[in-house]
Amino acid sequence: MDMTRLILATRNAGKITELRAILADAGLPHDLVGAEAYPDIPDVRETGVTFAENALLKAHALAQATGLPAVADDSGLCVDVLHGAPGIFSARWAGRHGDDKANLDLLLAQLGDIGEAHRGAHFACAAALALPDGTQRVVEGQLKGTLRHTPAGTNGFGYDPILQPEGETRTCAELSPEEKNAISHRGKAFRALVPVVRELLG
Ligand code: IMP
Repeated sequence: MDMTRLILATRNAGKITELRAILADAGLPHDLVGAEAYPDIPDVRETGVTFAENALLKAHALAQATGLPAVADDSGLCVDVLHGAPGIFSARWAGRHGDDKANLDLLLAQLGDIGEAHRGAHFACAAALALPDGTQRVVEGQLKGTLRHTPAGTNGFGYDPILQPEGETRTCAELSPEEKNAISHRGKAFRALVPVVRELLG
């Protein structure tokens, strides 16, 4: 088994750059490739009911299809007053997968009457590593904050314009990519993968 290469289950160049930098900073020699290097891999149905389950499903599917150690992440926004929703449904909260503006507008409308004291929320991310022999690990990261009443900022994606991290005066969409990666749920989960990669891949 080739243990020096790792494949990441995403076509998002930003995620690949972020994880590659984290592995390099940790002194790990592994070469990280994106799933676009394997165009014939079928999409995985996300049938899990937690971020961790869905990340593991995607990582195992990719490890089986490629014979490489595979990393996958799954993430979303969890709103306190909605008991954790949109959660795993974050990407299609308004019905259509990936319609960021409709998702954000619907959420803001739903929270219209909710005052500052009850607008807590967090981004959550699970990152899974699966080996072709079935070995698996999953780690998680969170970014806690509060939800604004109106969007602000143009960086980032998804719900970034309405999540103001704890201790910040700006929304995630007003942070630079470096500032966001340093505190984000995904950054934390990816950094938590470092000891796992070291343990399983040497
Ligand atoms: P995925 O795990 O990359 O598919 O993300 C699922 C959904 O969660 C996205 O479509 C966004 O709506 C939301 N989401 C996840 N991470 C972030 C983030 O860092 N900023 C804003 N929205 C996010």
